[in-house]
Amino acid sequence: MIITSVEFEPCVMPLEDKNWTFALGTASTSRGYIVRLTSDSGHVGYGYSNSSPHMGSTFESLPAELERFKPHVLGKDAFAIEAIHMALDRSLTGASQAKAGIDCALHDLCARSLGVPLYNLLGGKVRDKVSVLRIVAIKTPAEMAANAEKLLAQGYRYFKIKVHGDVEEDVARVKAIRERVGEDAHLTIDANQSYSPKDAITAINRMAQYRLDLVEQPVARDDLKGLELVTRSVPVTVEADEGAGTVDEIMTLVSNRIVDAVSLKIQKLGGLRNALAAARICEAGKVKYRLGAHVGTRLGNAHAIHLAAALPGVDYACELGEFSRMFNDPFAGIEVVNGELAVPDGPGCGVEPVAQAHDRKTGAA
Ligand SMILES: [Mg+2]
Repeated sequence: MIITSVEFEPCVMPLEDKNWTFALGTASTSRGYIVRLTSDSGHVGYGYSNSSPHMGSTFESLPAELERFKPHVLGKDAFAIEAIHMALDRSLTGASQAKAGIDCALHDLCARSLGVPLYNLLGGKVRDKVSVLRIVAIKTPAEMAANAEKLLAQGYRYFKIKVHGDVEEDVARVKAIRERVGEDAHLTIDANQSYSPKDAITAINRMAQYRLDLVEQPVARDDLKGLELVTRSVPVTVEADEGAGTVDEIMTLVSNRIVDAVSLKIQKLGGLRNALAAARICEAGKVKYRLGAHVGTRLGNAHAIHLAAALPGVDYACELGEFSRMFNDPFAGIEVVNGELAVPDGPGCGVEPVAQAHDRKTGAA
């Protein structure tokens, strides 16, 4: 099956919260590119490349990266996914989100041409549903508690509290949310690298009384000694995210037991192939893993649901429902129900493009 066209177009989705803030910045839109591959058999496969400056690619850099990769995809056998990956890696180091868009579109194209769900190309599914964790963006403790309560009323039971490195304020955030959502809810925090190791230890040990399940990337991505110190000094599972940006980095984190867990993301790892490899490394090293936020369109989350369905070690809620707080999604077919996503069983990744009534470049209606 030969790929006869490679197209990409911008995808801009306005956020419900125009002041959505985490420790690395504030956003009012989620931006990326849809990758569309067509084959000589007439089948179409879709992938998504998300713009996230902290993963390497921006909305401005993605078109140039995708354009550069085009000759390595056009005219090639769609099933030769590893060979295409090798060509992309030789062509450009990094550019993981552009590579992820192409990798996912190839998998989707192959699955649709075979008439099977995508998870069948990843080893088949080991679960039918995935629990969804929702992110609570940085605001005052009272505002964050109110937002968590709204999500609880919608059926969510897992929450990630974004914090920004101020021990007193951050402990107050966790306290306010625990008091509002009750004892049955599961709480995690994500500092996005904003603590010093000593402040992280102080904060997490104080937060532990409010029962945290997990702490994500407390210190700088390249501070491995600091991260290890935090892991050894707190009673809560410590997870790497920004510091687990490549399969090689995950190998270092796992083989040295620098963390208890790793957040896997298709976008930062450059596609499904690398995410599978990273999961195997975690399994071998007895380090936990789950899928972190796949921010943006349902399309990008659909690929991640199939990955979560196929990975035996996913033992905690995954961040695959953030599309629920965005408008103008160009894809439809998955929805969170009672805090869970059902694994789609139709051909391919399980979402389809919808007719657009707005400008994809700006997201305006
Ligand atoms: Mg994170």
